[in-house]
Amino acid sequence: MTIPIAEEQLKFITNIQRILDEGAFVATYKFALIMAIADYAVKKGDDTGAPLQLTTRDIAESFAEYYWRQAVPYANGNLPAAVRVLKQGTGMQPVVLRRIMELHGLFNGSLSAARKDARAWGALLNKVAATIAKMPLWKLQVVGRRVVPFLYAQHGSGNIINLQPGVVYNFRRFYDLIRNFVQGAWIRHVRILNVNLLGETDLAEFLFGAERTLFPGLRTILKSVQSDTCFYCKSKLHEGGDIDHFVPWSRYPLDLGHNFVLAHSACNRSKRDFLAAPSHLENWQKRNQLHGRTLGQEFDACCILHNQEATEKITFWAYSQAETAGSNLWLRKDDVTPIDESWRLLLR
Ligand SMILES: [Zn+2]
Repeated sequence: MTIPIAEEQLKFITNIQRILDEGAFVATYKFALIMAIADYAVKKGDDTGAPLQLTTRDIAESFAEYYWRQAVPYANGNLPAAVRVLKQGTGMQPVVLRRIMELHGLFNGSLSAARKDARAWGALLNKVAATIAKMPLWKLQVVGRRVVPFLYAQHGSGNIINLQPGVVYNFRRFYDLIRNFVQGAWIRHVRILNVNLLGETDLAEFLFGAERTLFPGLRTILKSVQSDTCFYCKSKLHEGGDIDHFVPWSRYPLDLGHNFVLAHSACNRSKRDFLAAPSHLENWQKRNQLHGRTLGQEFDACCILHNQEATEKITFWAYSQAETAGSNLWLRKDDVTPIDESWRLLLR
């Protein structure tokens, strides 16, 4: 397989933009679909330019997750909760959102509790997968009256698609850019649908910001595995310390247990949106090799989602993208270092 040339990459971005600008959007499903496919490309694809087959069920999970966080009541006030959830379509609330709101009620808003209930979660994913096949999947590539089948062959029905050669590569290469495009379009759309509800809360933060749920227990778990020291500078924590996303949230919304470390507020603030330097990466790998399984059990006990393999795949992807971009890595406060190949020896 060969990776797409620059001109093809540009064409891909232009087509994504055309879908967002010119496509018809009754509900917000198409936004969630693009993001769910992009997420799948990051988690399961590679950078060879190869095609990838996937089913609606493969992307249902990520699709449902986007709506899970958005099914929380947005506005304050005396209105019933169901009315305070942001509308995601004209007319009645789209079916996926309604189902998710029901599950929110059943599981007190806890995504990990809902996922643990295999029957309830499985039923939701089946419904989501069926809805994707019926609604956005075969409409996504329709721009005006024309079909622009640049992502997958347009069969018009069915629940399997084959991402064409180069598509997975492009989604991985331009994940940030695409996420910004899609979120911007999604926010504009929701704003139009909900003029009466919008208040002082930042809509972008509400829809896509870092997880609002605090993870009770997570701090204790990390404190113990790090012996009460800062993950980065190794000196004592003293204060409670900040929970830091090792792969920064801004690069990929990765809220899985093994991606968390505990750090001084000052270290955390200084690291911001940087990936950590190889010395930190090595420590993180060691921690997960030595304690990964125990951590997993402890995460389970606290209802914290985790998947070590997926976390490592996403981390690999994040570093390979940073290498392509020639990014700096964060070493310590006010000190960064250019990325080289050494991270590859650490992440296999
Ligand atoms: Zn520190």
